[in-house]
Amino acid sequence: MSNVKFRSGETIPLEMHKARIVQKLNLPPADVRLEKMREAGFNTFLLKNRDVFLDMLTDSGTNAMSDKQFAAMMQADESYAGSETYFRLEAVLQEVFGMKYFLPAHQGRACEHIISRILVTPGTTALMNYHFTTTKAHITLMGGAVEEIIIDEGLKVKSELPFKGNMDIDKLKGEIKRLGKENICFVRIEAGTNLVGGQPVSMENIRETSRICRAEGIKLVFDASLLADNLYFIKTREKEFANVDIVEITREIGRLMDVIYFSARKLGSSRGGGILTSDDGMFSRMRELVPLYEGFMTYGGMSTRDMEATAVGLMETMDMDVISQTPIFVAALARELQAKGVPVVTPYGGLGCHIDAREFCEHITQEEYPAGALAAALYIASGVRGMERGTLSEQRNPDGSERLAEMELVRLAIPRRVFTLSQIQFVADRVAWLYENRKLIGGLKFTDEPKLLRFFIGKLDSIGGWPETLMKKFTEDFGDSL
Ligand SMILES: *Cc1c(COP(=O)(O)O)cnc(C)c1O
Repeated sequence: MSNVKFRSGETIPLEMHKARIVQKLNLPPADVRLEKMREAGFNTFLLKNRDVFLDMLTDSGTNAMSDKQFAAMMQADESYAGSETYFRLEAVLQEVFGMKYFLPAHQGRACEHIISRILVTPGTTALMNYHFTTTKAHITLMGGAVEEIIIDEGLKVKSELPFKGNMDIDKLKGEIKRLGKENICFVRIEAGTNLVGGQPVSMENIRETSRICRAEGIKLVFDASLLADNLYFIKTREKEFANVDIVEITREIGRLMDVIYFSARKLGSSRGGGILTSDDGMFSRMRELVPLYEGFMTYGGMSTRDMEATAVGLMETMDMDVISQTPIFVAALARELQAKGVPVVTPYGGLGCHIDAREFCEHITQEEYPAGALAAALYIASGVRGMERGTLSEQRNPDGSERLAEMELVRLAIPRRVFTLSQIQFVADRVAWLYENRKLIGGLKFTDEPKLLRFFIGKLDSIGGWPETLMKKFTEDFGDSL
């Protein structure tokens, strides 16, 4: 992606790729969308993709793959043990991150499972800039606790700080002192903080966190799942790196960490995951768990074709033309929304455009899941599938009360090189329409609430008949247009 100037002086995002394979999309009429949303229990995870127009649920496994990735898949070596594919992927990872060992796992959460098994003991705490849903679940399953020490500004919807994902260094020092380093199982930095708007972490902050952890002898773990966007922001927002190659930035991160893990569904634009370390002790403890939970050491539950695609995808991540696509489209959508008064997270981050549902639906209390309701309303109004990232994505407190999320967001993920600019404009137009009619959106209540990770499979119902009223207004304004 490149931002190019028109003669008018206007800057527009220009794709540095072309489409060679396309997939037909389906946009069902509004009355069908309402019916499908109802069937899905007002949970966008439970929609069938055949009923979705633009799938902005997630970037997980949905980035467009390149011709070179598909070509590489043809050379996959399907041997159970000692596959050549494993050694190709290992070599790329070693080159990019500069770490000694690579352990394959079937996806990011599988890496979290293995890391939590060896590092978390009951009663210990993991300090991190911010949690991710599956990360927290694995740590708490092992009897540990999670504590977030993101800078205060990170939880403000509107800000001008370029690195809102940063760890609060004073809080880090304070918590190490308060808890005692022996009670801290590890410190974790999440690149491109998923749950708080795809906000990046600066290299300066990564360096400082690493310096403290090394001095205290605390293990430092880096979740690189959303590293691609974060690399783009380090290069474009941190002066020191304006002329530094992406691969050099990545290697520096490698030098500062004890463990790096990633979801190859995101980083690598493929599927799978992996853990990297140079620590002999941790490596040998984790290695034992791979054949037990994942698969033999040289495939770890992944298909070798996906491993080949990951190896190429990782190398392509070192190219600014590739990794700039999501952040530039996120900015294009967010700018358009802001111009129409829609509250969005600023500065614009990676991963997707994040709408502030708390302000958008200020008439809905957090107990009635404003972000979940907005995601459902958006599907009804447009066939666009976003994801709730708010109270619904939290787990209840042990006493059964709601744990109110710090941010109520609807995330419109923009997987890399998937959508066109006109599709982005369509999304902006429908969101703006919803904003004008926001008072018509009402709350949701659970009808089927699972205990663990309830947002994935839980079902809800609307409180009152707001979806019908919204639908009626849609027909008035758009006629029989889809
Ligand atoms: C998606 C994600 C994970 C989990 O990866 P999966 O491959 O979906 O299991 C972990 N951390 C972050 C930051 C993520 O975005």
